[in-house]
Amino acid sequence: MTEKTRQQTRPRDDSERQMQESQREKRMQEIGFKLLVLSGKGGVGKSTVAANMALSLALQGKTVGLLDVDVHGPSIPQMLGLEDREVRSDGHAMVPVNVGDNLKVMSMGFMLASKDEPVVWRGPMKYNAIRQFLGEVAWGRLDYLVVDSPPGTGDEPLTVAQLVGSPAGAVIVTTPQDLAISDVRRCVSFCRAVSLPVVGIVENMSGYVCPKCGEKVDLFKTGGGRTLASEMGVPFLGRIPIDPEIVSSGDAGAPFVCASAETPGAKAFDSMVRAVVAYRA
Ligand code: ADP
Repeated sequence: MTEKTRQQTRPRDDSERQMQESQREKRMQEIGFKLLVLSGKGGVGKSTVAANMALSLALQGKTVGLLDVDVHGPSIPQMLGLEDREVRSDGHAMVPVNVGDNLKVMSMGFMLASKDEPVVWRGPMKYNAIRQFLGEVAWGRLDYLVVDSPPGTGDEPLTVAQLVGSPAGAVIVTTPQDLAISDVRRCVSFCRAVSLPVVGIVENMSGYVCPKCGEKVDLFKTGGGRTLASEMGVPFLGRIPIDPEIVSSGDAGAPFVCASAETPGAKAFDSMVRAVVAYRA
C-alpha cells in the first residue's frame, strides 16, 4: 500500500470529520440515483454486472460513476482495462479515472502499489476508505453512481448503504443454484433492514446459449431467481446466460457490452439496464 493511501485512510479529528460528513452529503446529493450492486456471496458475477451496467448506462448517454468498494478484491480496473491508471488529486478531491466521455471510475485497485498486494485492514479503516470514496472523490453531477459492493451482508455493504443517502436502490445478483438463492434471501432482508429499496434480482450464469446453433441449454437448475423475486415481492430483472465472451472480455479488459452487442448475454444486459432506467423514471 502506498504512503498516500495510508495517509488518506487514517482516522481524523472531530471537526475534520464533521466537515467531511457535510462534504459527503453534498456530493451524494449531486447524484441522481445510487445503485448498489449486491450479492449473497462471491463469484456470482456481481462485478461483471456492475461494470457492464455502468457502461450500458453510459452508452445510453447517462453520466455515470462506477465505484468499486471491494477493498479486498477490486476487480473493476482489470475488467475495464484500467490497471495502469492512478488516481490523482486536484488539490481538493481525488479525481476519478475517465472512461470515454461520461463514465468515471474509482477503485481501491488504483491505490495499491501492486495488484498482488493484499489489503490487511481492520473494520474502521475500511469504513474510512468507503467514506472517503463517497465524500472525497470529485464525482460531480451524475445521473447514476453504480457501487460494486463486497459480497455478503457484512460491514462494507452496510457502510455503503448507510452513507450513500437517498435516492438509492439495490440490484441483487445471484446464480441459479439453491445455495446462492438462499443467500439472496439474506440480501433482500438486509436491504429491508437498512431501508434500501430493491430495484430487482438478476439471475446470472443462467443457462448457456450455443453460439453455433443458438440452442439454449440449462446447465444448472434455472428460474430460482424469478421464483424468489416473486416470493419476496421484489422485481425480477432478467437472466444473463453463461457466455464465454463475458469471461474473455473481462480478462482482457475489453468491456463486454461494448464488444459483443449482438450476443444473448449482451441483449440480456441491455434489457436489464432498461428495467433499471424504467424503475428510476
Ligand atoms: P463477483 O464479483 O460476484 O465475485 P465476478 O463478476 O468477478 O464475480 O465474476 C466471476 C467470474 O465469472 C469472472 O471470471 C467473470 O468473467 C465470470 N462471469 C460472470 N458472469 C458470467 C456469465 N454470465 N457468463 C460467463 N462468465 C461469467
